[in-house]
Amino acid sequence: MYDLSIETQFAAAHQLRGYKGKCENMHGHNWRVQVSISSEKLNDIGIVMDFHDLKKITKDLLSLLDHSNLNVVFPFTEINPSSENIAKWIFDSLKKRLEDSVKVNSITVWESENSSATYYE
Ligand SMILES: [Zn+2]
Repeated sequence: MYDLSIETQFAAAHQLRGYKGKCENMHGHNWRVQVSISSEKLNDIGIVMDFHDLKKITKDLLSLLDHSNLNVVFPFTEINPSSENIAKWIFDSLKKRLEDSVKVNSITVWESENSSATYYE
């Protein structure tokens, strides 16, 4: 197996509904996102996929969230825009955008320097 990972970031505001504490109020984060993918085989030129392409696909997806209020962006209108739910949303969305030969391993979302959530199946 070959594992590849990239990191990128986006900035967005959110508020956690039903949370008793400071995170109930609107506030922002510079979210850091790590995407990890894997593949059993390499292509003709000996790579799983171009890092540049993986970054572009991820950035295009995250542009839906960047500089937004997450609470008004679907599906976070219905589920809380927690790091956990954001990680799963990125996981599910990337799965649809990547070729079948590539598997999404995990998505890790940091909302601060030392707090992160990871989703994997
Ligand atoms: Zn927060």
